[in-house]
Amino acid sequence: MRVPNTEAASLKEYGRRRAWRDLYARSLVGIPFYLAGCLVLIWTGDLLTRSPSEAIIVVSVFAILLLARRWHRAPLGALEPALARWEKRHWALIHIGSLAWGLIVVRLGLVEAAPTPPVLIAIICSVAYGAATSPTYAMKPRMALTSVALLFLPAIVVLSLAVPSLRPFMLTLAIFGIYVLLSLKRYTAEYGHQLEIEYALIESRREIEQLSLTDALTGLGNRRRLDLAWHQAWHEARRQRTPLALLMIDLDHFKQINDTHGHQAGDHCLAHVASLLRDHFRRETDLIARFGGEEFVVVIHAPASQALPSAHRFLTLLRETPVIWNGEAIRLTASIGVAEVDFDFDVTPDVTLYRADQATYAVKHAGRDAVRLASSEDDRLPEQV
Ligand code: GH3
Ligand code: MG
Ligand code: MG
Repeated sequence: MRVPNTEAASLKEYGRRRAWRDLYARSLVGIPFYLAGCLVLIWTGDLLTRSPSEAIIVVSVFAILLLARRWHRAPLGALEPALARWEKRHWALIHIGSLAWGLIVVRLGLVEAAPTPPVLIAIICSVAYGAATSPTYAMKPRMALTSVALLFLPAIVVLSLAVPSLRPFMLTLAIFGIYVLLSLKRYTAEYGHQLEIEYALIESRREIEQLSLTDALTGLGNRRRLDLAWHQAWHEARRQRTPLALLMIDLDHFKQINDTHGHQAGDHCLAHVASLLRDHFRRETDLIARFGGEEFVVVIHAPASQALPSAHRFLTLLRETPVIWNGEAIRLTASIGVAEVDFDFDVTPDVTLYRADQATYAVKHAGRDAVRLASSEDDRLPEQV
């Protein structure tokens, strides 16, 4: 089953949008058959000779309706009130088609006043159009019902009263109408069920997508999420010439923490750092991710002049907020490399990332627990060095 992509926030909203899309697409299928029905009637009833003006009017009406339905496209990108107004107008176009056919059957029945071939063909066509209406428009049962009524009722009422020889046919049409209405109920339930299945699939796909981008231990974005978001932010910043900085944060002597307090304590520390990062880098545009192991990355839409003091403040926060584990305080520090994207030198996002990484290494060599700004000398990938 093809499941459409959707941003719909609920099953209800998804259902409404799907119904609008279906209404437009499905309304285009039936209308050429009305035209075909007209042409067969004109041919069998020799209407071009007997009543050319009426024949031309009838064909023109359906030709205009065909074009009108095609042109009257659903503005699917629009807001819901605009779509609701579109829907009303589109239903009017559908109902005009049904009524036009209903009136054709009445007119033909009155003129022929007997079950002649054109009258029987018109009745057969009514049956076919009515049968097609219920599955086609199952998304709006009331509107579908109106459509079937406009197709059947004019003939059933007028011809049963005015043309006695057509009464058995009108009775058959009425019985068939009841069947169509009953089947409409079933089609509507099936349509709703189908929507539920589709929406459940869409939701589970969203969940899987979210999980595939989230780090399970910290709840932060994972490496994959970082790669996607960092590349996107980098290219956007380059296009708009806005400042962008990346902080590479590597916890100091983390192996020792694991060795001293146990792996579980280490995990707890990582979750603690993640929560401090969330508290500190709070702007909506800030991206925080776990790069891997005990390394984190923060991307901020700011120049180095803002990123550096912010990184310093984070270090202070980290130092002053020890993790309490089994009643013991575990003190954490980190080495932070900061790189502001230099659009003249950084040819790809990886170059900026590499520069931040090099700055982190420099902090490690210099004794850890500090921040360093990447220099432009770090501006080359290893293979370019
Ligand atoms: P440095 O200051 O030079 O960065 O020393 P370090 O010990 O932090 O760095 P090193 O790369 O030697 O060790 C990283 C440690 O991080 C080793 C690894 O066991 C630990 N680590 C990585 N991922 C996890 C994790 O998910 N949970 C826990 N508890 N530890 C982890
Ligand atoms: Mg490391
Ligand atoms: Mg480390």
